[in-house]
Amino acid sequence: MESISVFDMLSIGVGPSSSHTLGPWRAALRWIEELKEKELFHTVTGVRVDLYGSLSLTGRGHATDIAIMLGLSGFDPVTFPIENIEREIEGITSESKLELNQERDVPFVPSENIVFNRSFLEFHPNGITFHADFKDGTTKSESFYSIGGGFVVKEERKVEKIKMEEFSHFPFPIEKGTELLAYCKAEGKSISEIVMENEKSLRSAEEIDQGLKQIWEVMLDSMYVGCHTEGILPGGLNVTRRAFDMNRNLIGDITYNNAEEWIDAIRNTEVKFRQILKWVSCFALAVNEVNASLGRVVTAPTNGSAGVIPAVIMYYMVIENHDANFDDVKQFLLTSSEIGSIFKKGATISAAMGGCQAEIGVSSSMAAGALCELMGGTPEQCLMASEIAMEHHLGLTCDPIAGLVQIPCIERNAMGAIKAINACEMALNGDPSKAKVPLDKVVATMWETAKDMTSKYKETSEGGLAVQVNISDC
Ligand code: SF4
Repeated sequence: MESISVFDMLSIGVGPSSSHTLGPWRAALRWIEELKEKELFHTVTGVRVDLYGSLSLTGRGHATDIAIMLGLSGFDPVTFPIENIEREIEGITSESKLELNQERDVPFVPSENIVFNRSFLEFHPNGITFHADFKDGTTKSESFYSIGGGFVVKEERKVEKIKMEEFSHFPFPIEKGTELLAYCKAEGKSISEIVMENEKSLRSAEEIDQGLKQIWEVMLDSMYVGCHTEGILPGGLNVTRRAFDMNRNLIGDITYNNAEEWIDAIRNTEVKFRQILKWVSCFALAVNEVNASLGRVVTAPTNGSAGVIPAVIMYYMVIENHDANFDDVKQFLLTSSEIGSIFKKGATISAAMGGCQAEIGVSSSMAAGALCELMGGTPEQCLMASEIAMEHHLGLTCDPIAGLVQIPCIERNAMGAIKAINACEMALNGDPSKAKVPLDKVVATMWETAKDMTSKYKETSEGGLAVQVNISDC
């Protein structure tokens, strides 16, 4: 059984896409690491990259080529200053060379050395093959697959084996919702407490707190930056950032100087139903506007859906519980990650495999269950909330216009967040013993729907809005 840490499900990265930006970036880093392990790195004279399938069809809009170059250059997606991205890429392009892992110059012309192939590799729609030429005239190639949420594999079987060895000491191995509920019942613990026990088998409680604090800081920062940045998003669609005006209109004359003061300021605004809808939408839009401009966000479980979880946490903090603190955020993140991992194990979190139900649907489901726990729901009600949220995302297609993670993606995060809150409320008022659809059934249904879905709607921009709306109309 594959066991997944909260830090696998929620990781800090750079926009706009976990599968098309963060994954390829990590794949490039892993390939360099492998070259070093095999003691081949110091003899490399040239590199080329082939992108396949969805990575190729929407890769330009998702900045896959940029991510690959930054990965080959050895930069860390978590710490690399995003304001330097443009300068680095311009340097590689103008000098026609790339400093491999910041150690070794190789000739590199992006338009020639990164090839966008229309064909698909058999194993997964997001395939990348790296080729290295060596001093002795030989060439070696390695293929990687970006399977969603920033996860990168070479072959599923091999990875599962490694994961099993690595996590075999999880005290509560979980693959399905029923198993999670059984542990909660037997131990008398909440979902977040069970997840915490698993996590503690990997790292200390202090390390977990530190890691989750860092994740929350990036989430909050992405909302704050998004709400205070105006203008047009890059990429050619001329999409205007909306979070800036929404925040300004909602906050009125209240002044603040940083993100913490901003939270207090929001708590002091009038919140009727319309304002709640607007605030939650504003938080979600903000994150995904930052994501669309290659900013730093937390994949939750992907970059395209990065706005749902922060927006719902903020909803809890500024609307539901003005005393909420890091302990609440921690509880939310632990619970949400477990629900996400159940979808990853039983279905997919990759839009190239399952369309947008796998991204926004999963993030909404994660947020619904986690909010339910914070609002006092039982573990059964939490899974009921997750189920309701996914049930009403089933079949949602992925059809980003021009391959950019902007339309419909940015707004879709707002819709996912609102649905999560609604699903939570219905579950809190519901009786899980009378629910007809358990979470595991909706996971299985999502996977079956994913398999039936035509590839036009799986992050290829070959159907839906992507073909109905012409970029020249935008
Ligand atoms: S349509 Fe959904 S799945 Fe596709 S890129 Fe946008 S957010 Fe991601």
